[in-house]
Amino acid sequence: MGAVSKEIMEKAVQKWGKSAQILTLLEEMSELQKELIKNINRNQNNLDAVIDETADVEIMLAQMKHIYQIEQAVQERIPIKLQKVMKRLED
Ligand SMILES: [Mg+2]
Repeated sequence: MGAVSKEIMEKAVQKWGKSAQILTLLEEMSELQKELIKNINRNQNNLDAVIDETADVEIMLAQMKHIYQIEQAVQERIPIKLQKVMKRLED
């Protein structure tokens, strides 16, 4: 995460508070879910909305990691998780 993004995230937490930011992540995840359901279940051509909601989720996910100070821990967990997926692929 760049210095500018970090500054924006800190300002957002100061302005709206940690709980509101976490709830906004949940809201954005549900918006992405809704667009994915429309795309798959109703065969809708809504790729722009999927892109939009994916961007929202990524921003709020970064915000949540910043709030809990878990960026590094998550980063370290990812290769372990990918290793497990790789193992399942090989089984
Ligand atoms: Mg959204």
